[in-house]
Amino acid sequence: MAIVYLNGKFLPIEQASVSVMDRGFIFGDGVYEVIPVYGGRLFRLEQHLERLARSLAEIRLANPLPAEQWRRCLQELVAQNGGGDQSVYVQITRGAAPRDHAFPKDVQPTVYAASSPLKPLPADLAEQGVAAITVEDIRWQRCDIKAITLLANILLRQRAIDQGAAEAILVRDGAVNEGAASNLFIVKGGVLVTPPKGPYLLPGITRDLILELAAAHGIAHREAAISLADLNAAEEVWLTSSTREILPVTRLDQRAVGNGRPGPVWRRMMSLYQEYKQGVRERGETPAA
Ligand code: PMP
Repeated sequence: MAIVYLNGKFLPIEQASVSVMDRGFIFGDGVYEVIPVYGGRLFRLEQHLERLARSLAEIRLANPLPAEQWRRCLQELVAQNGGGDQSVYVQITRGAAPRDHAFPKDVQPTVYAASSPLKPLPADLAEQGVAAITVEDIRWQRCDIKAITLLANILLRQRAIDQGAAEAILVRDGAVNEGAASNLFIVKGGVLVTPPKGPYLLPGITRDLILELAAAHGIAHREAAISLADLNAAEEVWLTSSTREILPVTRLDQRAVGNGRPGPVWRRMMSLYQEYKQGVRERGETPAA
């Protein structure tokens, strides 16, 4: 039975419950993180905790735990769920209070963490890649906050799924920023390009690691705006996230990307990424360089 952490206690998931007055339930007033675990070790934990602290600060919610306590809590959660490869979900909401948009006074936040088995990547990824569609970005202007309020992302992702695609790539004012639940890279003229951080995309942990690996291994890369025209002419298109790693997009809006197969830059980066993951399994976190 899965063990979860809720407000200071570890308990079986069936016994974990929160109030119907919780502002997470009523308003989606909260933030979250998803952290992969390899060989019992939380991957890029420092970076995830920093992003969590930033999301909390941006929604004006005090961080309920200092970093060291987060570390101990999440390591304990991973251990109680049997180690190995997992996906840890962390959520903090503004707590339970009578429904009112205004921040409640003297309310304890709800702090929740759970773990589930990490789903394997599609077996035919390196041969087939995945399909994606482009859609207009209907989200708000603070996509840099990892907010639990995900209705727009859900509707956008579902449009992709309804068309047999894995992800929706979001277009805003002619620029492509990211996917519904992933960051975006393209290869253009042999150079790996990803949009710079800003209000229209989540600062992805996988994104940053890929840039670090590119720098450490001499892969030409840059952070620059990507137009829809750039995307459509790209030699390679990738989507990145903690749980799906680096997905090569081989069909975009029903057309082939490049020759319709995952490209050489993806193959190189995927192998560097797997090597880095293996290093974490064996030795724990070390710099990419
Ligand atoms: N953008 C969005 C909108 C996301 O939801 C996610 C991951 N859930 C990402 C990017 C990728 O972030 P990360 O690499 O930290 O998982």
